[in-house]
Amino acid sequence: MTRRLAVAGLFVLAATAMGQAQKQPNMDTIAEQYVRLVLALGVHDADYVDAYYGPPAWRAQAEEEKLSVQSISAQADILARRLRQITPSGGPDDPGRLRYQYLTGQVSALRARAEMRSGRKLTFDQESKALYDVVAPTHTEAEFEAILGQLETQLPGTGPLRDRLDAFRARFVIPRDRLDATFRAAIAGCRERTLRHIPLPSEESFTVEYVTNQSWSAYNWYQGDYRSVIQVNTDLPVRVDGAVDLACHEGYPGHHVYNVLLEKNLLRNRKWVEFSVYPLFSPQSLIAEGSANYGIEVTFPAAERLQFERDVIFPAAGLNPETAQEYYAVLGLLDRLSYAGNEAARSYLDGMLTASGAADWLEKYSLMARPRAEQRVRFIDQYRSYVINYNLGKDMVRAYIKARVGNTEDVGRTWAEFERLLSSPRLPSGLVVR
Ligand SMILES: [Zn+2]
Repeated sequence: MTRRLAVAGLFVLAATAMGQAQKQPNMDTIAEQYVRLVLALGVHDADYVDAYYGPPAWRAQAEEEKLSVQSISAQADILARRLRQITPSGGPDDPGRLRYQYLTGQVSALRARAEMRSGRKLTFDQESKALYDVVAPTHTEAEFEAILGQLETQLPGTGPLRDRLDAFRARFVIPRDRLDATFRAAIAGCRERTLRHIPLPSEESFTVEYVTNQSWSAYNWYQGDYRSVIQVNTDLPVRVDGAVDLACHEGYPGHHVYNVLLEKNLLRNRKWVEFSVYPLFSPQSLIAEGSANYGIEVTFPAAERLQFERDVIFPAAGLNPETAQEYYAVLGLLDRLSYAGNEAARSYLDGMLTASGAADWLEKYSLMARPRAEQRVRFIDQYRSYVINYNLGKDMVRAYIKARVGNTEDVGRTWAEFERLLSSPRLPSGLVVR
C-alpha cells in the first residue's frame, strides 16, 4: 500500500466513525480529529500551531493531505455537531466536563479561524469572541487622560510627557553585554520561587536564545518532553523590568510551566491527545497569556519584587539599586494604560485608524516611543485581536483565583489554585466568577 492510500484509508475510517449517528460519540475520537484539523489548518497558517508534540505521522499526513480551509471548516462543523450529541456528566469542576467544554470551545474557534482564512470578515469584538471566548471592555480617551495627568506630576519637567518618560526609561535599559546574565538571574529567581509551590518533573528544562526581526518581545516555543526554547527579541533595548516579567511570563510559572503541567497531567496521565497540540488563535490562549501575566505578581508580590530587583536584578544589569523604587512607582501607573493598546488594535482593525494613526495613538495613550509603537502595530497586524489575552486575560485569571481563594492572605492557597488552573482544561467562560 502506498503512503497516499494509507492516508486515504485513515480518513475513510474516521468518516465511518462519524456516520454512526446512533452510537454515543467517543471523546477520544473527537479529540484526535480535532488535533488533525488543527494540524491541517496549520498547513495554511504558519502562526497557528504554536506547539505540537503528538505523533509526527499526523503532521506529515496533514502536510501531504493539504485539506482546503473550506473542508477544514466543514469538518470542524461535523465535530461540533458530534460534541452536541454528548451530555457531559459531573459538576462544574469535573475533569470530564471541563474536557468537554474545552473541546467544544476549541473546535468552535478552529472553525472560525478557518472561515477567516477563507475570507470571512469579522469586527474586532466578533473576532475576539469567536477565537478567545471573550469581548474586551472599551475604555475612553478620558480615562487614559486621567492616568496621563498623574504621570505628569510623577515625572516633572518641561517638554512633552512622552519625551520625559523616554529619557527616564533610558536610564533603566539592560546593557546588551549584561542581558544574558541578568535574564538568567531572573529565571533562577522565578524558578526557585515557583518550585517552592509547584513540583515539576525533574527532566524539565529550557534553552534561551536571543533573536531579532520579530514583532513580539519574547516567545516560548514548547517542544514537548518538558522542554522549551525561550527566545528574547533584541530589536529594541530590553529594560530592566523586562528581566523578571519575561522570565516569569515565558518560563516560571508562565508558559513553560503551563505547558509542562498540561503535558504531564492531561496528555501523559489522562491520555487526552488534544493536549499534544496548542493552536494559538483559540480560547486556550487567554488562559495561557492571562496566567503567564498574573503569575508574575503571584511569584513576586510588589514588596518582594522591589527587594529582588534591588538585591539581584539591578546589580546584575549594572544599574543603581537605589533607583528601583522610583522606577517601579512609574511602572505601576503605566500598567494602568495597558488597555489603551486594546483600543488602538480595535480602532485599527475595524478600519477607524490607519497603521500610522494606530502608532500615533500608542504614542499618545500608551506612551510608547515611536519604534516600539511601530513594532506593536506589526504585532497587531500579525496577531490581531490576540492582544486582549494579555491584559483582559490577566484580570480574568486574577479575579477567578481570588474568588476561589477567598478572603485570606494564605499564599499557599493562591499557588494551589493557580497550579490547579494550569493543570486543567478550563476555558475563559469557565473563569467567570459567579
Ligand atoms: Zn505569552
